[in-house]
Amino acid sequence: MSLLSVIVPCYNEEENVAPFYQELMKNASFFQGKGVELEVWYIDDGSGDGTAAEVKKLRKKDERVHLVSFSRNFGKEAAMYAGLEKARGDCVVMMDVDLQDPPSLLPQMYTYLEEGYDSVATRRVNRKGEPPVRSFFARCFYRLMKKISQTEMMDGARDYRLMSRQMVDAILSMKEYNRFTKGIFGWVGFRTKWLEFENVERTRGETKWSFWKLLMYSFDGIMAFSTAPLMIASLMGVIFCLIAFLMILFIIVRKLIFGDPVSGWPSLVCIILMTSGVQFFCTGILGQYLAKTYMEVKRRPIYLVKEEM
Ligand code: UDP
Ligand code: MG
Repeated sequence: MSLLSVIVPCYNEEENVAPFYQELMKNASFFQGKGVELEVWYIDDGSGDGTAAEVKKLRKKDERVHLVSFSRNFGKEAAMYAGLEKARGDCVVMMDVDLQDPPSLLPQMYTYLEEGYDSVATRRVNRKGEPPVRSFFARCFYRLMKKISQTEMMDGARDYRLMSRQMVDAILSMKEYNRFTKGIFGWVGFRTKWLEFENVERTRGETKWSFWKLLMYSFDGIMAFSTAPLMIASLMGVIFCLIAFLMILFIIVRKLIFGDPVSGWPSLVCIILMTSGVQFFCTGILGQYLAKTYMEVKRRPIYLVKEEM
């Protein structure tokens, strides 16, 4: 008998807990046929509603359902990490509780794993039902990442992924505090099969990601998997030195040929403003990396458990 662990991060999702379980169990017979046992880990990410109570109700009926409750909201990244730590399966799958990651794909995914892939990942081919501004920025993010990071990141990739034990252990060995799982998946490598599916809209509850939260998350992603912004800071320095050098030459030559009545106050102000702006910008980039380093060296736990069963 082998074991498949299902990890489900939940944040204020009381109305989704039970429907998710039902949808998931529609695949139970497939896995039974394969001799695979299931366990489900609901990770309650500090919900303020009845999410934990809903999970406990399920657990009363089915011992394969587990609950980990955080002491507060630590974010989806922390929830996924906790799930990976708790899962004991020979293979592990991560999925959203809002049914945007269709459980009906599971049998197909498992078949690929059996064929020898280490992980089976999913991506949505469209972003139907998503605000256009959000889609636009998401596309920009992936295009930018492709350019500035060596780590492979697929546009439209979901966190919905089935992994072998070997890959899970590799991910767990990355204990960084600023986690960006989409990058981590790419970083650890292994043979990955990509499945595509049409975007499914959320039926119950609402998204936990505001535009602002997503924007900040994308900055985290860039800083976690690329040092290109630091390069920008150095480049800017070089470019401005060059410009300054050319201007000095220009002024000396002008002085020698035409003499120099005192003038040029407005241009001077513009130059000072511009260069100090660039300096602040570059110091800001440095500061961001320093801040991330600061958080890393504190070695705080990624999450804190209040209750586990
Ligand atoms: N989630 C979480 N902690 C958070 C935010 C979200 O565990 O701080 C969970 C949420 O319950 C859901 C999944 O992450 O299962 C994806 O969130 P959501 O559906 O809101 O994101 P979207 O699909 O809109 O990108
Ligand atoms: Mg969702």
